[in-house]
Amino acid sequence: MNVPCPHCSGSRLQIVLDGASKSLHCRDCGGRFNVPARSTDALYNIGYYFRNYTPRRELQLHQFRNYVTLLQEYGARGPVLDYGCGSGVLLEVLTEAGFEDSCGADVSVDALAVVKQKLGNRVTTIPLQRESFPDTKFGTICLMDSLSHIPDVEQVANRLVQENLAAGGTLLIRTPNITDSYFRLARLLKPIIGLRAYTKLTFADFRYVLFNDKNIRRFVKRLGCEILHEREEDEMLVYPPSRGIVSAGRTVVLKILQKRIPSMVILSRKQ
Ligand SMILES: [Zn+2]
Repeated sequence: MNVPCPHCSGSRLQIVLDGASKSLHCRDCGGRFNVPARSTDALYNIGYYFRNYTPRRELQLHQFRNYVTLLQEYGARGPVLDYGCGSGVLLEVLTEAGFEDSCGADVSVDALAVVKQKLGNRVTTIPLQRESFPDTKFGTICLMDSLSHIPDVEQVANRLVQENLAAGGTLLIRTPNITDSYFRLARLLKPIIGLRAYTKLTFADFRYVLFNDKNIRRFVKRLGCEILHEREEDEMLVYPPSRGIVSAGRTVVLKILQKRIPSMVILSRKQ
């Protein structure tokens, strides 16, 4: 494999899943990534948001209110950029909390249309298909579950922090903590959960770079930010209702596995 590890530039790589794309594990830093990563952009049509986010809107609102409280506790300033804003739940909560002139950026024009419909001129939207990103300085930038979807994540995040985050500005990141022990457990349970669930739960498709609690800290430091607060919380996933004992048992196994990939929430400040 002549692709260097995106976390540490290491070259001691091991193929852990050889599917539509190869899932690679770096023996130097324990980082994971997928090559070639399949673009997620086409997935995010209006049906995607309806299927995936409508059932968990209450949970998402609850979590995002906690993050906005956290931002306030650390004196985060506006305007806020939500990079990968989806259908705009965080923007809604920010607006409700009094943050003005927030801005949502997303690859999905459908998602941005939903944001506009909900919040109108109270927020600005930026389609990420556009060649250039506006030269605006934000007091806060949020990346909620969007990092692993960004090709050239290091380059994109660096540009965002250097060019779009004000001095002393706040960076809030949420991304799943995907550790080696999690992968070992997932592999062990693969015969029970099946290849499809295994591929989904090991993020082998439709992601670029996977983070864990160690390499995310190094990543944030490389961006020139000091970590002020970090915590873990349950990943939010909604399971389809199971029918029959076998299916119910499988759902239980999936839930156990899910508990092992908590989301990391990291608040840092640009130095
Ligand atoms: Zn590495």
